[in-house]
Amino acid sequence: MTSSTGRPPSVIVVTGPSGAGKGTLIREVLKRVPGVAHSVSATTRDLRPGEENGREYHFLTLEEFLDRIERGDLLEHVTYVSGHRYGTLRSEIDRITEKGKVPLLELETEGALKVKREVPGAVTIFISATVEELERRLRERATESTGEIGERIALARHQLEQADEFDYVVENDDLDRAVEELTELVRGLLAGVGTMARP
Ligand code: 5GP
Repeated sequence: MTSSTGRPPSVIVVTGPSGAGKGTLIREVLKRVPGVAHSVSATTRDLRPGEENGREYHFLTLEEFLDRIERGDLLEHVTYVSGHRYGTLRSEIDRITEKGKVPLLELETEGALKVKREVPGAVTIFISATVEELERRLRERATESTGEIGERIALARHQLEQADEFDYVVENDDLDRAVEELTELVRGLLAGVGTMARP
């Protein structure tokens, strides 16, 4: 349970299983809440159609990614399914904070827990959905190979069990309702109000 401190969070982390709709929800919240900005992560995975380097991610080669780790440029980093690397750039957090905004991070659960443990003032929000819904969305998106979808679903099952570790849970059963709930939650956090989503 998170208590109200009267201060906005240092960062807001949105996490949850692949296919829970984190990306869509975050895009909608960014349109509605001017006080937050998306922290653009680094990754070694390939661009998907419609993505742009520097917008969805900073797309790096493995060599470049390892070099950034070596230089201490990453706040946290993980190796995800099929060996792709993902990491939060400290420079993104600084860039956003210097503008007087709160960085909004989209992370898988391992990275989110690390930020929760290590970054003072971080607030974590878990986006949840049923396994059936996750599987349906991943197949619909079909940007991964069938094998990789299988791996993501297995991981998603495991990640759903971790929901309790986070400060808030938003159920994405209905997109409009979930957008509304997450928007109100983020607005409340920026205003320094720790609205209680958890019993
Ligand atoms: P996707 O390949 O679908 O864009 O992302 C795969 C997973 O990596 C998602 O769960 C996403 O939230 C997570 N992710 C994206 N950027 C980062 C990051 O910087 N750090 C961590 N730990 N996870 C990330």
